[in-house]
Amino acid sequence: MKRILITGGAGFIGSHLCERLLNEGNEVICLDNFYTGSKKNIVHLMGNPWFELVRHDIIMPYFSEVEEIYNLACPASPVHYQHNPIKTVKTSVMGAINMLGLAKRKKAKILQASTSEVYGDPRVHPQTEDYWGYVNPVGERSCYDEGKRCAETLFMDYHLQNNVRIKIVRIFNTYGPRMQPDDGRVVSNFIVQALKNEDIIIHGDGSQTRCFQYISDLVEALVRAMNTEEDFIGPVNIGNPEEMSILSLAEKIISMTGSDSKIHFHPLRADDPVKRKPDISMAAKELGGWEPKVTLDEGLKKTIQYFRGDGSVTNRQEK
Ligand code: NAD
Ligand code: UDP
Repeated sequence: MKRILITGGAGFIGSHLCERLLNEGNEVICLDNFYTGSKKNIVHLMGNPWFELVRHDIIMPYFSEVEEIYNLACPASPVHYQHNPIKTVKTSVMGAINMLGLAKRKKAKILQASTSEVYGDPRVHPQTEDYWGYVNPVGERSCYDEGKRCAETLFMDYHLQNNVRIKIVRIFNTYGPRMQPDDGRVVSNFIVQALKNEDIIIHGDGSQTRCFQYISDLVEALVRAMNTEEDFIGPVNIGNPEEMSILSLAEKIISMTGSDSKIHFHPLRADDPVKRKPDISMAAKELGGWEPKVTLDEGLKKTIQYFRGDGSVTNRQEK
């Protein structure tokens, strides 16, 4: 049994990771300020004596006896991270410094949830880890992209200067149950709009592409990355390389939900990447042959069931 800290543990990805690590017999401390996370995501874990919930903001130092840290705290949807961009940068940068300081003191291993956004609007396709990216430092997405890039720098420097054992994973678009219905990201938006027979809003002409990874595939990769023997892993891309246009995604969701929704086109958001697709050969090599297992159809089916089933489409989730 290990004592494991998960920052952002009450969020979409964090809650699935808490569940997985508890099921494996570990003690889990879930730290969250509930900015975008929700107690509802982890309420089913609260009766477990090995689960501890801490309301805390990682821009402030946090002290605890832990062996592993998964640093996931950060709003991930453009709508949320652009709401208070200064706070987003603080969360990524000051949060990384605080968690790396904790890892250094406790000699704990630490994993950083980085992002495909470090590649910006990429000029290399698919994206390999050695590509440095094409990022606007002063645009609407910069608080997130540059915050995450700086966090990667800090992780690398704590490793080189203080021998902290680090794992950096660059997560590509991930979806699944427990995304907030008002999260603002494309999969949850389209499913919620389709289930309500409301207009589906596409930004731009819908020709921009993304690759969508189901949550269980990501969680498997995160745990594998943490458990690697090496003192330093990454940055390594984690995603599902099946690429599709946003228009095709909308059409697929309309068809899978049997919706009467009509597609409407709104102006493209600033600095919206034109295409994105991970090269996952490094992940396969470094993470014991890891590859995504869940197809888009299977994953969407489960996610649609979730949004249909728990009433969250019509009733906003309680914080
Ligand atoms: P999410 O918004 O559901 O979860 C983020 C969690 O962090 C929330 O519970 C939120 O309350 C918490 N949080 C935010 N700021 C905090 C702070 N200052 N102190 C403490 N807690 C704070 O998003 P998610 O999709 O679960 O993303 C989790 C991590 O994975 C993020 O770091 C995100 O950047 C990264 N990521 C996600 C995706 C994706 O597609 N979901 C892609 C790339 C990277
Ligand atoms: N998008 C859209 N309609 C929506 C939400 C998103 O057309 O309601 C588009 C968005 O412009 C982007 C893609 O879908 O091109 C993915 O958006 P998301 O916010 O999910 O993630 P990111 O842009 O960070 O990859």
